[in-house]
Amino acid sequence: MSLKYVSTRGRAPVLDFGDVLLAGLAADGGLYVPDQWPELSPEALGGLPGRGDYADLAAEVMWPFVDGAYPRTRFDEMVRDSYAEFDHPDVVPMVELGDGLWLMELFHGPTLAFKDIALQLVGRLFDEELKRRGERVTIVGATSGDTGSAAIEAVRDRENIQIVILHPHGRVSEVQRRQMTTIDSANVHNVAIEGTFDDCQDLVKAMFADAAFRADQRLSAVNSINWARVMAQTVYYVAAVTRHGLDQVSFSVPTGNFGNVLAGHVARQMGLPVDRFIVASNRNDILTQFFASGSMAISEVHPTMSPSMDIQVSSNLERLLFELLDRDGIRTAEMLEDFRATGEMRIDSRISSELDRNWSGVRVDEDETAACIAELYRDTGMIIDPHTAVGMAAARRSRRDSDGAIVVLATAHPAKFGDAVEAAIRVQPPMPPALDVLAERPERCTRLANDLAAVKAHVAQCSGHGVG
Ligand SMILES: *Cc1c(COP(=O)(O)O)cnc(C)c1O
Repeated sequence: MSLKYVSTRGRAPVLDFGDVLLAGLAADGGLYVPDQWPELSPEALGGLPGRGDYADLAAEVMWPFVDGAYPRTRFDEMVRDSYAEFDHPDVVPMVELGDGLWLMELFHGPTLAFKDIALQLVGRLFDEELKRRGERVTIVGATSGDTGSAAIEAVRDRENIQIVILHPHGRVSEVQRRQMTTIDSANVHNVAIEGTFDDCQDLVKAMFADAAFRADQRLSAVNSINWARVMAQTVYYVAAVTRHGLDQVSFSVPTGNFGNVLAGHVARQMGLPVDRFIVASNRNDILTQFFASGSMAISEVHPTMSPSMDIQVSSNLERLLFELLDRDGIRTAEMLEDFRATGEMRIDSRISSELDRNWSGVRVDEDETAACIAELYRDTGMIIDPHTAVGMAAARRSRRDSDGAIVVLATAHPAKFGDAVEAAIRVQPPMPPALDVLAERPERCTRLANDLAAVKAHVAQCSGHGVG
């Protein structure tokens, strides 16, 4: 039985998994979600032998979402390949910290951040779907440092995909730049723009807004609203509960675009027993307001030491809102259009009391984040990155007597944010071998002016479709 996917704004065509994967955003501006939540199978809920192999569990949990799109054996193979290169045999190992607190490490993939877990699979699913259709695409994106490398690693050497990533010249860290520019694959194209991250984003938006260019070059994206990314992230919530036999568990999730914690909500909808989600934000706390008061108002973005959470409008919140509004797409669309127009949103008290039962929003400021890194290091010798520290501080502060275990999701390796960590504990976190070797590898990158015509010409050359 294959699932159908519907848009959160109720006016786009109902699609199958393969179409949803390639479409990303729905035609009505909404996000795709399954038309019903499948139930976790008994195998997924603990029937797999022993500690369970992550890839086996992942295939089992995700299968109902993709059934009909791939043969089961091919899907299992793609899932296995996705996690084969992770540098820990458990893929997402858990560490017990005492006092009911656990840390789940989501940073053992090739770029040492949690986005690898979803993107490694999504790159393979994309390529497979394109091959089936006999199509090719060029993925274009802008990065301020962190997400570019995860996207590049996800699609390197895939036959039917070219990828062009723009970063601001001289404004990403050396490690971040080298994670992108040392990838020796013919389909990977790095561009350093003489400008800021905003300039890079504007260039990408302008290319997508040019309908003819977009069609000629078969432009595509794998951004965080893609349903397949959420799907792939549900798996580690299941792993956290079943591998360690935790019978009462909450999760504290450092949150930016709301994709990670939404995946936890999906796992709960599928029958995973979870008490509470702690939505942890840095001083960009629009989500915290939403969960605390049922309303939110946009303000400007403040830069922090946890830059992947420096976001005002969290796009994946739309998927939760759709559920809270009893899957009424027209009302969801109205609320979001209003929000866009006025910069404010309020949900009614019935819905906000529903949220109170199993969601908490916690804001953690810069001092508390640094103090949390320092305390954990002093007490346990463990070093965590600033994003993880936001989740950890939120878990500690919002802990209730009635809570069972709280699992904090560790979203990045501390060496990726070495300077912020060093400022907190006066020690540089040790470089893992994967980052250490980058220093010796040759870099490949094209430097271009902040000029749309020049960038378009370059993208056309990379895509191999010529200038149309
Ligand atoms: C992307 C990212 C986040 C935020 O995740 P969302 O899914 O956007 O909520 C948190 N920490 C790190 C290190 C990230 O890269």
